[in-house]
Amino acid sequence: MSGIDDLPALRDVIASHGLSARKALGQNFLLDLNLTAKIARAAGDLSGCDVLEVGPGPGGLTRGLLAEGARRVLAIEKDARCLPALEEIAAAYPGRLEVINADALALDWSAHLTPPVKVVSNLPYNVGTELLIRWLTPPAWPPVWQSLTLMFQREVADRIVAAPGSKTYGRLAILAQWRSDARIALTLPPEAFTPPPKVHSAVVHFTALPSPRFPADQAVLERVVAKAFNQRRKMLRAALKGLAPDIEDRILAAGLKPTDRAEQISIEGFCALARAVAG
Ligand code: SAM
Repeated sequence: MSGIDDLPALRDVIASHGLSARKALGQNFLLDLNLTAKIARAAGDLSGCDVLEVGPGPGGLTRGLLAEGARRVLAIEKDARCLPALEEIAAAYPGRLEVINADALALDWSAHLTPPVKVVSNLPYNVGTELLIRWLTPPAWPPVWQSLTLMFQREVADRIVAAPGSKTYGRLAILAQWRSDARIALTLPPEAFTPPPKVHSAVVHFTALPSPRFPADQAVLERVVAKAFNQRRKMLRAALKGLAPDIEDRILAAGLKPTDRAEQISIEGFCALARAVAG
């Protein structure tokens, strides 16, 4: 028994199901169930929510989510070797865990969940940023999810919560903070995982805002931000050259200076620029 439920300790689960970690699948497992319960708690009250978990692996975080009271968990796991271990968890929590053996990048999960939905995952690092960008850019806002509580490499987490003027401020910070509140909920050293990755990690908690912080067309904003940061050390008038006719006038119309550099411009400034470019 493991402390948070009547299931076996995760080391025994891994040994009995032969779940040796595979690097290609980004498999760095969390074996401390007190820690996985803490991550589940970082997502707030789960009792009335369906939870989407990408990459449950042997199920440490899955068990944390269920023990912390999630109404239902939908777990999407690419590695079929993990399925028997996950079935044991499903049997211990009847009717509350659905497991789908699929690539999370290829599956439309929305039909499997009933709102309110929270996403809580210790993501495989190789697909984490791609999934985050998809969750942050749905066809309409507000999104299906109410919050995201996600593990990233510390360096990616820092880029997500970065403020203007910092070296890590860029596309990811603007994408995340334009329509959500994003903060680092906890940080973890490599030794928290088995096997330990080379880098430190952090859990970022995002709460979806009911509407974007400032008006802008998503596609135009993304275009402007991508071009501005493509040459982040250049002044805006040079970095944005060719984006629209009379670009200097549009920069001025947005209340910015053509000599400003991308990393100094707030999200409000970028939204004004996107509106000036669209107009
Ligand atoms: N949640 C477990 C934990 O905390 O111990 C495992 C986390 S491990 C970092 C990432 C998990 O994602 C692995 O189980 C891996 O097999 C799975 N995975 C990798 N790529 C995936 C994909 N494209 N779709 C779904 N699962 C994936």
